[in-house]
This record gives sequence, structure tokens and C-alpha cells, in this order.
Amino acid sequence: MNDFVERRIALRWHAPRRAYDVLIIGGGGHGLATAYYLADRHGITNVAVIEAGYIGSGNSGRNTTIIRANYGIPEAVRFYQHSLELYQTLEEELDCRFMHETKGIMWLAHTETQMRAEGARSLLNLACGAETVMITPLEAKELCPQLDLSGGGRYPVLGASYHPAAATARHDRVVWGYAQGAMRHGVHVAQHTMVTGLQRHGTRVTGVETTSGPISAGVVLSAAGGRVSTIAAHAGVRLPIRTHPLQAFVTNSYDFPFPGIVSDTELLCYVSQTERGQMLVGAEFDAQPSYSQRSSFSFLQSCAAKVTRLLPFMRDLRILRQWTGICDISADFSPIMGQTGVDGFLVTTGWGTWGFKAIPAGGEQMAQLIATGRTPALLEPFRLDRFASDHTMADPGSTGTH
Ligand SMILES: Cc1cc2nc3c(=O)[nH]c(=O)nc-3n(C[C@H](O)[C@H](O)[C@H](O)COP(=O)(O)OP(=O)(O)OC[C@H]3O[C@@H](n4cnc5c(N)ncnc54)[C@H](O)[C@@H]3O)c2cc1C
Repeated sequence: MNDFVERRIALRWHAPRRAYDVLIIGGGGHGLATAYYLADRHGITNVAVIEAGYIGSGNSGRNTTIIRANYGIPEAVRFYQHSLELYQTLEEELDCRFMHETKGIMWLAHTETQMRAEGARSLLNLACGAETVMITPLEAKELCPQLDLSGGGRYPVLGASYHPAAATARHDRVVWGYAQGAMRHGVHVAQHTMVTGLQRHGTRVTGVETTSGPISAGVVLSAAGGRVSTIAAHAGVRLPIRTHPLQAFVTNSYDFPFPGIVSDTELLCYVSQTERGQMLVGAEFDAQPSYSQRSSFSFLQSCAAKVTRLLPFMRDLRILRQWTGICDISADFSPIMGQTGVDGFLVTTGWGTWGFKAIPAGGEQMAQLIATGRTPALLEPFRLDRFASDHTMADPGSTGTH
């Protein structure tokens, strides 16, 4: 933890008690946000978040920080738009500066087919309340003067969909902000405590086994990121989730402003600039399912080749750091939130490569479900039983990484 955390954020760790009303497995953004909203909106404070490592050590502290709502199905657009709007006032609400900045994102298209797909996306987004418009190559160049409109002579830019409300925020501070907010209401957060099993009584989950001993709970929520399949298996629940690594890297500082976010629908890579001026690059997830968090040279090689076609200035930069997270990718590329069919055991999962933007809405809505016992309208389409009833929410083209 750094100076910001030690001086400006009031974080207090707890040794877990033996029983809670609600126990949340995983101190990532979704687990901590759910704990915060349970306490803040519903007065449920007898809550513990149990984290195997340190908070934010999963994907919530490894992502490329992009917040947007330009999805491809109405249910997803509405959900992510709500989250994007919650983010806009979250710094004040949590009393934590996490460098939220609205930047706009463009999704470049290189073929007529992609132009049609992006045109349809723009119309759907507008109809569902998330502003997205089509722009010409020259308008794209105005927004991002560094862009090579010929795509290195091989990927000419025919146009782009542009979503002006897209933003970035510093990911680990979002996690710390939610942790602080939850702790202020009396929520317990235990770090370096791993959940190793679930306690069951008949058909009901009644608590967890941890490396610090058993803890009973009225409700257990898994917010365990890429490790969800193992946790759910303890309850006898088989999820339509595969875990895939996702890699990213940053360069050294670029001396000029790069105000927007550039994403490419064909090359499957995206670029933004951090507060420190570094160029932050993300791409598609590794094809092979795995729990490995190793970064690879082949990823760097292929991703660098792609981004330098679009943004030739990046050839003069150096790669400073690369890292990997393990992502819970659902079969239809949409999240899975809510009841599992096993009493007392809920999940928030399927956040894959796209769940950072969803932290405020995901936490708020899961808290409402736990507090009231009723599935809120925004969550309804993302229930686990959609797979059994053939109502999947297929939206792979909106992940930006597939
Ligand atoms: C490289 C990369 C780039 C990304 N870019 C973006 C982006 O630009 N925009 C976007 O919206 N999303 C992005 N994502 C996805 C996003 O980061 C995740 O979807 C989101 O952070 C998931 O949050 P979470 O709380 O569900 O999981 P996590 O943050 O992974 O938290 C899960 C926590 O559970 C803990 N845990 C696991 N097992 C146990 C156990 N047995 N006991 C106790 N604790 C346990 C883990 O240690 C971890 O801290 C990206 C992901 C990666 C890897």
C-alpha cells in the first residue's frame, strides 16, 4: 500500500468473527461495492468481505480502467449506462478521489460490414439512453490527431462509432474507496484469508470454511472473479464460465496529450493515456483457458504490431510493464448475477474482460437483491437460469476484446 492509502484513506482490517448476516467472498470491486451498498442503502452492516490476498489484487486492480456503455443489446446498454452515471458522482459519494475523467471512446471500423455493425450499435445505444454517434475518418482524426487513417496502409479507417461519455478512473482507488465506505458503516474486511469450502446444512449454504476457521452466514455471495468455478463447485453449482487470462501493458510517458480512448473492432486492441502520461494498451483475451497469470512475449509482440499500425508515434515509446489477470468469461459474454438455485448462495460473476465499468451498478443491484430478496429489473436479464430457459444475452461483439 502506498502513501495515498496510508494517509488519505481510512482502512481498518479485521479478524473475522464467527458469524455474519452476509458474507462476501472476494475483496475486488464487486464484492466491496456490494458490501458498501448493503450498509449504506439498506442498513445491513453485519457483513464481512473475505479476501484471499489484498483487496484489489484480482482483476479490479489489473484492468485498463475503461468505463463505457456502448453495448450491443438493450439490457446491457441500460445496465452499463446506469453504472456509468453512478461513476460520475461516485468520487463525492465515497469521498475518495479516483481520477474519474470523461474522455470519449471511438471504435474504429475498417470494412463495410464493421461500419454497418457500428451504425446499428449507435442507433441501439441512442434508443437505450447511451449517446453514440457515427463519425467520419476526418472527425476521428480531429479527435485523435495521432491516428494514421491508412492503418499502416493495411487497415484504412472508414469511420467509427463514437461514445462521448466513456471515461477512465484509477482502478485501485475505486476499490479502496468502496472499502473505506463499507468500513465506515462497520463492515468487516479480512485480507489474507482464503475461503476453502462452503458449509452446507441440507440443501442450504450456511457459511464458509476459511484459512482462519469456519464462519457462518445467512447469505454467502461469491464475488471471487476468475476463481468462481471452484467456489461454486463447493455448493454443487456448475457455472457456464471459463477462466481465460487477459494481458495488458503500459509504455513510458508520452509527452503530448492523448485525450480520448481509441479502440479497434478488427485488431481487437485499445489505447488510452494514464494520468502519468503513459500509454495503456489492452487487447483480446488469451484463447486458451487457464488460471495462469504469466505474461507472454508473444502477446507484447502481436499487440505492439497492431497498435503501431494505428498510432505510429508509439514505435518510439518503450514498454515499461506488462501484467495479466484471469477473467471469468461467461458462455454468452454477459454477466451472471443473483440466485444460483442453492438457498443462501448467490454469485456475481461473468465479469470477464468488462466488469470494472460495472462495479457501481453491479454492487448496488446485488445489494438490493440481498436486502429485499427480489431481483431488481436491471438484474433480471442476467440471472443464471437464463441458460436453462434459453434466454441467453449474447453480446460478444461488445466486449472490445473478442
Ligand atoms: C488486463 C485487464 C484489463 C481489463 N480492462 C477492463 C476495462 O478496461 N474495463 C472494464 O470494465 N473491465 C476491464 N477488465 C475486467 C475487470 O477488471 C473485471 O471484470 C473486474 O475487475 C471484476 O471484478 P470482481 O470484483 O468481480 O473480481 P476481482 O477484482 O478479480 O476480485 C475477486 C477477488 O476474489 C478473491 N478471491 C478469489 N478466490 C478467493 C477465495 N477462495 N477466498 C477469498 N478470496 C478469493 C481474489 O483474490 C480477488 O481479489 C479488465 C481485466 C483485465 C485482467
